[in-house]
Amino acid sequence: MISAAALGLLKEKLGAANVLHEKEDLLVYGYDATPTVQLLPEVVVFPTSTEAVVMALEVAGEEGWPVVPRGSGTGLSGGSVAARGGMVLCLSRMNRILEIDEENLTATCEPGVITLDLFGEAAKRGLFYPPDPGSQKISTLGGNVAENAGGLRGLKYGVTRDYVMALKSVLPDHSLIATGGKSVKDVAGYAFKDLLVGSEGTLGIITEITVKLIPPPKDKRTFLAYFDDVSRAGAAVSSIIAAKIIPSTMEIMDKATINCVEDYVGIGLPRQMAALLLIEVDGHPAAVAEDAQQVERLLAAAGAAEVHRAESAEEAASLAAARRTALSALARVSPTTLLEDATVPRSRLAATFDEIARLTAKYRLTVGTFGHAGDGNLHPTVLCDERDGDEMARAHAFYQDLYEKVLAWEGTVSGEHGIGLAKKDYLARQIGAGGVEVMRRIKEAFDPRGRLNPGKIFDAPVIAGAGGEGEGDGAAL
Ligand SMILES: Cc1cc2nc3c(=O)[nH]c(=O)nc-3n(C[C@H](O)[C@H](O)[C@H](O)COP(=O)(O)OP(=O)(O)OC[C@H]3O[C@@H](n4cnc5c(N)ncnc54)[C@H](O)[C@@H]3O)c2cc1C
Repeated sequence: MISAAALGLLKEKLGAANVLHEKEDLLVYGYDATPTVQLLPEVVVFPTSTEAVVMALEVAGEEGWPVVPRGSGTGLSGGSVAARGGMVLCLSRMNRILEIDEENLTATCEPGVITLDLFGEAAKRGLFYPPDPGSQKISTLGGNVAENAGGLRGLKYGVTRDYVMALKSVLPDHSLIATGGKSVKDVAGYAFKDLLVGSEGTLGIITEITVKLIPPPKDKRTFLAYFDDVSRAGAAVSSIIAAKIIPSTMEIMDKATINCVEDYVGIGLPRQMAALLLIEVDGHPAAVAEDAQQVERLLAAAGAAEVHRAESAEEAASLAAARRTALSALARVSPTTLLEDATVPRSRLAATFDEIARLTAKYRLTVGTFGHAGDGNLHPTVLCDERDGDEMARAHAFYQDLYEKVLAWEGTVSGEHGIGLAKKDYLARQIGAGGVEVMRRIKEAFDPRGRLNPGKIFDAPVIAGAGGEGEGDGAAL
């Protein structure tokens, strides 16, 4: 329970409009996009400057509250949910693009900038910011950096980490660190920047981000290829990569997803097909023409039932937009949408689809699978109802078995959504107790009192005054 004195102090320091504490307001910040993870904070604050972040941390420190950084709350592993109550520190009002430096090809932004807004501003200057998570219309750059988000263009252009050049952050002891810079090369000391990228709000609060921009591709071709067998689509992906062609995008949707997307956006996708690949090749026009020809040939050789080439930039954009709706389209169908982030070496893609089909039948579930096929990153999504205990147990058994195979194939339990609250057990299975212990020691060096986003990634020891006895101590919604 928040005291009147602490509330008054926060309102005085941050402005009353930047502090929420009524239950009906807190409810909105008690969850992110992760199903079944819902816990209430005591207070939500919206700092509008680095100084305000420090002030909020000071009050939290005096009150002994844990602090949970938050962007737009689109995370898919429970990262921005207050597992042990306390303060949610929402960076969405620090949302200015501070500079686009056309000499150094960089952009410097506050953490609450929306990903697509940066893309748009860069494009106005003839520049390109490639990372494009499916959530780019709402996710923040801070959330992207903290999760090291990937996206549809990750296959050719890489993930958020590949673009982060510098970060400014506030550490849990209120000190400020600046790491990295605009220099293209920088090996001075430990790479703190790379520790903060993907740290899921457990090491520091990111308050300023400088990213690299690149010249945009001059040309692009977009294809849709339909398959009457999902493993054949997986094999087509492997054969394109084996032919040393790196499309910018190679996305997959299975039959269940195709049908849900078609119900949602109605763009004429063929409902009877087992799988669809959305492929984009981009670059210099001559290279694009050659790659496009090869891709068409390889798709035919892999047994595509039909290959459709987008006739215009508008059509290409609408196909990519349809793919971005996949999760929302699936989520409309059932009360609960359990989505996972299984990632395998690309040569295992077809086998992974076979395994998903086998486990779907074994556990009698409805599963839609889509994802970044070119990255080997699949999102098998169980459409279920959390009120049905038996169905939920079968869904969890499905994922347990699937991850066993994924790990045996040298895959990973998260390609892009992070560990957060949702995947702690899986992480230990992947990296072992020794790996988790090293992470704990790094956490302790940054945050010895365990105040920042406790209970995420691994179970850190609970420290007196750092918010309760364990995960789940945040009040239930
Ligand atoms: C429809 C949909 C599609 C998606 N598609 C993709 C995709 O293609 N690729 C992908 O990688 N992800 C995807 N996601 C997941 C999600 O959008 C990303 O993880 C995104 O980066 C989260 O950004 P956010 O601003 O919503 O962060 P939040 O969810 O608010 O926070 C995410 C994590 O970052 C931490 N954090 C946030 N801001 C800061 C900060 N300033 N300093 C320190 N820590 C911070 C939080 O504590 C939390 O641990 C998708 C989600 C949805 C709902």
